[in-house]
Amino acid sequence: SASNLSTFYEEFRLVAANGAVRWIRSHAPPQSMSNGDVVWDGLAIEITAEKSSETELAFLAFHDPLTGLCNRLNFNNALARAIGLIDERKRMAVFIVDLDTFQEINDALGQSIGDDVLQMIGERLKASAERCQGIVARLGGDEFGIMIPDVSTDEQSIADLCQTICTEISRPLRISEHELVLQACVGVVIFPSDSDKQQAIIPDLAIELLKRADLALHIAKQEGPGAYSVYRPEADERLRNRMILRQSLHRGTEEKQFELHYHPLVALSSGRIVGAEALVRWNHPELGMQRPDMFIPLAEASGAIIPLGAWVIAEAMAQHQAWARAGLAPPPIAINVSSVQLRKPGFIATVEQALAETGADPRNFEFELTEGLIIEPSPEIFHTLSWIKSLGFGVTIDDFGTGYSTFKYLRDFPIDKIKIDQTFVRQLVIGSSDASIIKAMIALSRSLGVKIVAEGIETMMQRDFLRDEGCEIGQGYLFGAPLTAEDFGWLQRSAITLPVT
Ligand code: C2E
Ligand code: CA
Ligand code: CA
Repeated sequence: SASNLSTFYEEFRLVAANGAVRWIRSHAPPQSMSNGDVVWDGLAIEITAEKSSETELAFLAFHDPLTGLCNRLNFNNALARAIGLIDERKRMAVFIVDLDTFQEINDALGQSIGDDVLQMIGERLKASAERCQGIVARLGGDEFGIMIPDVSTDEQSIADLCQTICTEISRPLRISEHELVLQACVGVVIFPSDSDKQQAIIPDLAIELLKRADLALHIAKQEGPGAYSVYRPEADERLRNRMILRQSLHRGTEEKQFELHYHPLVALSSGRIVGAEALVRWNHPELGMQRPDMFIPLAEASGAIIPLGAWVIAEAMAQHQAWARAGLAPPPIAINVSSVQLRKPGFIATVEQALAETGADPRNFEFELTEGLIIEPSPEIFHTLSWIKSLGFGVTIDDFGTGYSTFKYLRDFPIDKIKIDQTFVRQLVIGSSDASIIKAMIALSRSLGVKIVAEGIETMMQRDFLRDEGCEIGQGYLFGAPLTAEDFGWLQRSAITLPVT
């Protein structure tokens, strides 16, 4: 049995004589009778379905179903661990490998041959990476990631490593009657570099390293098949921009350089708009309009997220009220909340103040929390979430499937909705095996009685699949880009359905 202290029930795994496993959740405290017997009196429900979707989901969430290699999430975690373990004298290398002619093979010979190619290439890369304690992941499509924890950094050694990768891939592949020859491009980043040591904080370093390797890959691709390229900080404009952004964040908050855009949430069956997600933009005086991925991590690291986040909440509420006053019937608005905001004690006061200033009704808003936040639930966070819920706000888990498995918390926390992360939706086009992750999530949401939303829908095929599997609400570029308040107001007035065809 697995007892759970925060709630008052236990879970039992029952094994029948024929080996079949069933799970029971029961609320049945033991009682001593006067004759000395102990009886269990209470309630039990069967939760076998919930348990099996948990295990299936847990495997699928960390592995690429086709090659059995790590997936992107698992690779990110491994990078983060390796970064944490790296010592003074060592350098690690992260490669991104992109197959050049894969799409043509897939189109000409069919997906099943394409799958064989990916599996065989995956095995080769794995064998050669393991010789240097490295790990390999399939990052999506025909892209692989390789991490080698300890490399020599002279130019020749790095060139040799890239050459080895390219050679492994270009050795002919024999699949049934075909003999195929592929080529690859490779982008590589070495960590830490000299400039990394000068930079105090780089938020989310694992993701940053993948971005750098990706940048190098882009440069390699321009040279053509078989090329490789090493990341150079001088070539990275983002680095320079990030320094400017970091320095001007506080000023930007004071001078109200931010604005909110609204991204429609759509009922997949009818195309009607049933909500909007507020997404912050920074209209930077020097660098122009900035997306949040560029500055939210910086704001989180510097603390500027607190005033910025407070502004976002108040602005979304004020806008909802303004639409209502203008005679529209605005749908509920989802507001993103960073874990830094929620952990700080002032969050409740911030929300109270925004409600008081705007006169908004909490039932018209929901807060989106990233899954990572709920990993280490403290009594304070539980209290804040319960308070939010008691006022009538909705609570959604954002980017579901990208954090560690949080099924238990999902069950014990007051959650209304989960939002399937875009990476799963985007991979839907690549192979039907990816679809099983989404099916498992939908099954899980059903068994837990929470609503489910899919984001990042870009094609009709993705929408139809999700709708047919029972996901009712979606969001994505298929239905349109995030809109200014003015344009979103217009959309409400027009009673339009999306996508506009
Ligand atoms: P998110 O919460 O996962 O928001 C969804 C992001 O995906 C948005 O990017 C949206 O424009 C984009 N997106 C939506 N549909 C599609 C699609 O079909 N295809 C593609 N490729 N992308 C799509 P955006 O606006 O750049 O926001 C990035 C992230 O920044 C958000 O991710 C969220 O985590 C954070 N963020 C945005 N606004 C706020 C805010 O006010 N406060 C906090 N703390 N974080 C925010
Ligand atoms: Ca969100
Ligand atoms: Ca999201």
